[in-house]
Amino acid sequence: MADGLEGGCACGAVRYRLRTGPMFVHCCHCRDCQRQTGSAFVLNALIETDRVDVLSGETVANAMPTDSGRPHAVHRCPACGTAVWSHYGGVAALRFVRVGTLDDPSALPPDVHIFVRSKLPWVTLPDGVPAFEVYYDSKTLWPAASLERRRAIFR
Ligand SMILES: [Zn+2]
Ligand SMILES: [Zn+2]
Repeated sequence: MADGLEGGCACGAVRYRLRTGPMFVHCCHCRDCQRQTGSAFVLNALIETDRVDVLSGETVANAMPTDSGRPHAVHRCPACGTAVWSHYGGVAALRFVRVGTLDDPSALPPDVHIFVRSKLPWVTLPDGVPAFEVYYDSKTLWPAASLERRRAIFR
């Protein structure tokens, strides 16, 4: 299905391939994501870092301020500045890949909408996709196989 999806930055220096599909896909409408993308929301595919093959280039990390005080590092192409993925909470083994950098972003639609409390009013959410004012309990929403994959990261 979603195995082998490729993507990259705007200038093409950074290219990557997702060896498998992600565990889950977030559409985050929080103010931090809006500010950091300059847009209405961010799309993050959560996947094990060791399932992301970097085909070319390398990224540089920018530390972002967070409300929680926990670290959030945004990784960008140093040449064009495109943000390709993030690591939250200092967990290097879990990568949040920005779906908009895929060659085919339509391949990974959101599994959940979060921080809907700050969703822009003209964004209409689709029926049938869970949406939460703030966050959610992954145990109730993620497929069992994805939960098992996540457990393996934090083991
Ligand atoms: Zn680039
Ligand atoms: Zn967010």
